[in-house]
Amino acid sequence: MFVGHYAAAFALKGKEPKASLGMLFIATQFVDILFFPFALLGIEHLELVPNFTEVNNFKMDFPFTHGLVASVVWGLLFYLVYNYGIARKKEHRKSISVVMGIAVLSHWFIDLIVHVPDLPILYGEPKLGFGLWNYKDWAFIVEALVLLFGWMYYMRKTQTKKPWGKYVAILFIAFLLFVNYINFYIAPAPPDDIAMITLSSLFAFSLLALLAYLMDKGRTAKT
Ligand SMILES: [Zn+2]
Repeated sequence: MFVGHYAAAFALKGKEPKASLGMLFIATQFVDILFFPFALLGIEHLELVPNFTEVNNFKMDFPFTHGLVASVVWGLLFYLVYNYGIARKKEHRKSISVVMGIAVLSHWFIDLIVHVPDLPILYGEPKLGFGLWNYKDWAFIVEALVLLFGWMYYMRKTQTKKPWGKYVAILFIAFLLFVNYINFYIAPAPPDDIAMITLSSLFAFSLLALLAYLMDKGRTAKT
């Protein structure tokens, strides 16, 4: 999934309003942020196979970023970096660190819904994936709904702080749903050029995290 991962970011922000939504956007995509450069460096593998699924051409081998055990390790690392570093002097330090770790781990479980069986537990077989990417329209609907539910929870747990806080939040979810639509139905198949795919995905992840951060400035936790 792509924007569907942000459902977890929104929901975790609803749970712990002191956590940064922008950083949660990074955390929920963290293993993909690693995967594309890893593929470029040959540490993991991305092969473009036409019609590999109805949704994309990505045939992937990625035990170090998308293994369940590896995901737990990356999540733990995020937890430690927050608990003993970034959030060290903040209130709610423990729970900020916990939601950051869960955000990283959530990626695997959300990918599980759509990926064909390519998500390893540790390394090699068994590999898991429910394969919703083989049903394009359903995959689109499920990703949109998951995202929408996460966002609704965030909206319920927060209130406007700035006059624009409500409208920008609505604009932002509309934009994310539009990105999902483009991704499924409009965007051409990616070029057979891993460097280009890496650059464009890292750009998209950064831009969306920045927009999330700015949008969230207009909102505050409900008291
Ligand atoms: Zn992924």
